[in-house]
Amino acid sequence: MTRTMKAAVLHALKTPLSIEQVPVPEPRHGELLIRVTACGICHSDLHAVDGDWTPPPVIPLIPGHEVTGTVAKAGPGVKGFHPGDAVGVPWLYSACGSCEFCLAGMETICKQAEATGYTKPGGYAEYLVAPAAYVGRLPEGTDPYAMAPILCAGVTTYRGLKRTGARPGQWVAVVGIGGLGHIAIQYARAMGLRVAAVDVSAEKLALAQALGAELVVNGSETDPAAAIQETIGGSHAAIVTAVAARAFEQAVAMLRPGGTVAYIGLPGGKADEIRASISAIVNGELSVRGSNVGTRQDLDEAVGFAARGLVRATIRTVALEEINAVLEDMRKGRIVGRAVLKIA
Ligand code: NAD
Ligand code: ZN
Ligand code: ZN
Repeated sequence: MTRTMKAAVLHALKTPLSIEQVPVPEPRHGELLIRVTACGICHSDLHAVDGDWTPPPVIPLIPGHEVTGTVAKAGPGVKGFHPGDAVGVPWLYSACGSCEFCLAGMETICKQAEATGYTKPGGYAEYLVAPAAYVGRLPEGTDPYAMAPILCAGVTTYRGLKRTGARPGQWVAVVGIGGLGHIAIQYARAMGLRVAAVDVSAEKLALAQALGAELVVNGSETDPAAAIQETIGGSHAAIVTAVAARAFEQAVAMLRPGGTVAYIGLPGGKADEIRASISAIVNGELSVRGSNVGTRQDLDEAVGFAARGLVRATIRTVALEEINAVLEDMRKGRIVGRAVLKIA
């Protein structure tokens, strides 16, 4: 008889997830069966459910890619993992390992990459399988609920900050203080950067201030680019984790000459395009870079910051049965910090 598990399943885009019993997957060669403890609810999961991106997710889909859990069983050929080991599964489910990008340490842009909770079943379930080679190891004694958001929000903003090239003592504008942004502030501070936080919600800016942002700007009340230029002469760097195209346009205008912005948010659909001033970019020698989740090395480093207590997600734990209500709250911009599914 096949064992079953509880999972939240998307059967059609833009419809509620259904909580149902599905078979527990069997780990194949090189794979781990992982018992899920927690799974953060990333805005990317909402984009998947709403079909905001091209190509759309593989349906039926179990979303979720901020997974922490323990090894339940190692498939054939797996070395170095044992039942009970604490592990995490990020968005980067796997990459090919042999293309020019993988060989150059840029597996984040491998064209054969698979995505947890998008092209492969994710962590809104009691179990999932994942290739051992791409699973993150978590230090003993880490809080699995607070650690879950590090598996995406953490590693993604950590890499994004690095890709701006900002150095200690310089200013970084963190635009969008949601699940990603509130963690970005903490990585930035741990790296010795000075933070200007921009959002359109006063509640999120209050959290930003509590987390150490020295300057907060409400983009629904003032032009944030003008405010940052006037107050600090522009920021050396910016990362954009907002879900509105306008924020990406404003971030370029926040930079001081020579500055770099890393684009992280993915509004998708009609919001996927921006207008930018060519002359501002040319004359200011500005750089606009994309940043897509992180490599396994980035993940290991990002987890290290969290394990040492330098970064800690502000979380609210919720039950799997509450998932549709949480996604609706996220659509309305009502989640402060990160909601995390408490699976075990
Ligand atoms: P979230 O919903 O928790 O946060 C989004 C934040 O943006 C909210 O605080 C909201 O108030 C703010 N915002 C909305 N409009 C704004 C504006 N005009 N100016 C400033 N702030 C504004 O979402 P999240 O989980 O943090 O994800 C953010 C985005 O990043 C999503 O599009 C997600 O898909 C994307 N993402 C990208 C990667 C990547 O690798 N590039 C990884 C994870 C998530
Ligand atoms: Zn590759
Ligand atoms: Zn994510």
